[in-house]
Amino acid sequence: MVSLSIFYRKTLKFILCIFFVQNTIAQEISFLFLGDIMGHGPQIKAAWDDSLNSYNYDEVFKPVEQLISSVDFAIANLEVTLAGPPYKGYPQFSSPDDLAVACKKSGIDVLVTANNHSCDRGSNGIIRTVKVLDSLGIQHTGTFKNIQERDSLNLLILEKKGIKVGLLNYTYGTNGIKFSSPTYVNLLDSTLIKKDIDNAHKQNLDKLIVFVHWGAEYKDLPNSYQKKYNQFLKDQGVDMVIGAHPHVIQPMLYEKQKANKKEFLTVYSLGNFVSNQRDLRKDGGAMFRCSYKKNKKVKLKDKEFILTWVHKFSKGNKMHYQVLPCAHKEYDQSYFSSQADYKQMQNYITHARSLYKRENTGVSEGRPIPKIHMDKHEPVEIHASVPPKIISKVNFLKEAKTKKRKR
Ligand SMILES: [Zn+2]
Repeated sequence: MVSLSIFYRKTLKFILCIFFVQNTIAQEISFLFLGDIMGHGPQIKAAWDDSLNSYNYDEVFKPVEQLISSVDFAIANLEVTLAGPPYKGYPQFSSPDDLAVACKKSGIDVLVTANNHSCDRGSNGIIRTVKVLDSLGIQHTGTFKNIQERDSLNLLILEKKGIKVGLLNYTYGTNGIKFSSPTYVNLLDSTLIKKDIDNAHKQNLDKLIVFVHWGAEYKDLPNSYQKKYNQFLKDQGVDMVIGAHPHVIQPMLYEKQKANKKEFLTVYSLGNFVSNQRDLRKDGGAMFRCSYKKNKKVKLKDKEFILTWVHKFSKGNKMHYQVLPCAHKEYDQSYFSSQADYKQMQNYITHARSLYKRENTGVSEGRPIPKIHMDKHEPVEIHASVPPKIISKVNFLKEAKTKKRKR
């Protein structure tokens, strides 16, 4: 009798323990933010694969794919339009749809699209970009096909088992090219943002993140414009501000406000995720990884940067681009075919670590290994036999035909 009661007690304890562990694991949501995904001319050229008779960007993301896939939500800035051919780099970008296919395959869940290149290919570029992302199942915000979609899709809600995080996206401008009806691009406008944030706060969110395209290019430190808007967003109750555009990294600052213990985090600039810019500082970037944990209150659990460097190299009569996780490759000289490339990456690491050591508060370096194992990624729904780009091309073709008929 006694031993039976011990057995029941132990069983109950075991069940409670499992319930507790499951509950603890479930109450967490993880993010990885990536900087600017650029599409310069040489990158387009390098993506052409003769054997496939198609563009293919898979190798760009390969070395960081596991890392990107390990979080619940990987979010990057798409700084090109997917406007269809002719494909062009700077100054008015249009990249092959295959760039977005590779983003999806690598585990990128969300692309923000409001940046100074949003209007590079006019309304068609904005509309087609959104359609391609939709066809691939990549979530997005920042630019919209029309005002109705802006009303319903502006606030992107990212949710995982009881934690609800909102995402908004704005840009300082669009290189002087105005968007025209029916399209819409979110510009940094305090009246508009205040309204959006007020609406977001009615959605019962646990946290609100704003991804902003801002700042002066090639400056290591934020300017007064960035600081002003950062303060404005903080005053509106935003929890996290993620920045991009300067093409170099800028500081990451964490603070806990004394009065209300509210956490606020700013990443002023993530730098380039991938580009053809090869000068020191522009040739690399940083990812920002964090997670929110719910334990009565929702609080930041991890907050760390992971350095990346763009490895551009020649092999088999063509150029190749790869985004390397710096901390994985810094002692692996044999990986590089050229001593100069290895040295260039070392120089970038030295610069980035020294800037962050000097300027960051509360954000330190994380290892580029998948840290947070969760039940996020069901297998990516991309089948070799039906590539999404074909699906989207078919749709466009159908649309083009309908338009023609209308005329
Ligand atoms: Zn930009």
